[in-house]
Amino acid sequence: MFCKIAEGALPADVVFESSQVKAFRDIHPKAPIHVLVIPKVHIASVAALTAAHDGAIAAMLHAAKDVAAGEGLVGYKVLFNVGREGGQMVDHLHLHILGGWKEHKPKSLNI
Ligand code: 5GP
Repeated sequence: MFCKIAEGALPADVVFESSQVKAFRDIHPKAPIHVLVIPKVHIASVAALTAAHDGAIAAMLHAAKDVAAGEGLVGYKVLFNVGREGGQMVDHLHLHILGGWKEHKPKSLNI
């Protein structure tokens, strides 16, 4: 499904795009600002990473930094869920950017 968003075949609220990645708002946000960053190349999860993916991973993290800055986030979470037990429901690698809480206090790891 995220492959189709990467290709532009499925609509999404895209906030950032480069040759390697796309970032779009989560359809069911778990934070006031919740953006997903995906690589355009298909990678199933963190568990499937190889050295061949290093460029895509670096691009995802740089995109996360730029998206967060663009959204005006000072503090935020960057999260990968891995496998069903880790809460991963979509089998195309995606990084969650979560932030925008009004109160500036530490948040627990549970989202
Ligand atoms: P996961 O649980 O796999 O780490 O996260 C998947 C995320 O993708 C969830 O937060 C879910 O709300 C979001 N999501 C699932 N389907 C779609 C979709 O079609 N469009 C968008 N924008 N987000 C989606």
